[in-house]
Amino acid sequence: MDIKSNLAEVENKIVNACKKAGRDRSEVRLIAVSKTKPVEVLQEVYDENIRYFGENKVQELSDKIPKLPSDIKWHFIGHLQRNKVKYIIGKVDLIHSVDSLRLAKQIDDDSKKNNLISNILIQVNVSNESTKFGTSNEEVFDLIKAVSELENIRVKGLMTIAPATNNPEECRVYFKKIKELSTEIEKLNLKNVEMKELSMGMTGDYEIAIEEGATLVRVGTGIFGERVYS
Ligand SMILES: *Cc1c(COP(=O)(O)O)cnc(C)c1O
Repeated sequence: MDIKSNLAEVENKIVNACKKAGRDRSEVRLIAVSKTKPVEVLQEVYDENIRYFGENKVQELSDKIPKLPSDIKWHFIGHLQRNKVKYIIGKVDLIHSVDSLRLAKQIDDDSKKNNLISNILIQVNVSNESTKFGTSNEEVFDLIKAVSELENIRVKGLMTIAPATNNPEECRVYFKKIKELSTEIEKLNLKNVEMKELSMGMTGDYEIAIEEGATLVRVGTGIFGERVYS
């Protein structure tokens, strides 16, 4: 399959999942997860009118940005080290993967230095797997309260990665849980905090994520095909 038909299939599945859930298609944004893929292939996807791209490595992202059109909205979706924050501040539309106050403070500091505001999501390890980054379902409240005090950060919602499984139905319970957390956090009415985005769902489970309220789905393999790591 080529990129064009892959994209058509993903779009079709998004539309159907929205219908099934009684949601409007405009409530869900597709993030094309382009990690490991060469810029020529990203350009092909861009030419099909995709404007949101997700990358998980600072170096790779920095290499790609100047080689592609400037109206791309880059989303950083990987684990972010504090010493690398300075390389992506002002260059990304949204950082999905903030899971500690230390990291949030670094983003705040670097944003201040650049005289700008950074939009972030808080990553929650909703399935509590030891191999995954993210704050816990319990700690997320204190973390967001502390982050809300930082002046140059806006929290736009939550992000999670569901467990890898052959049966995506098993992810539904985690998607429901994070939606529930987001509703509870919204009720706290914290300054600089909105719970309008839920980043959840990857190639294997994005339809279920949409049924459970995802606003950002991160699809890599479903668009670009399998990744080859050298
Ligand atoms: C790689 C990656 C994805 C995309 O995964 P696919 O299964 O290829 O769709 C989504 N989210 C994160 C955080 C990733 O690292």
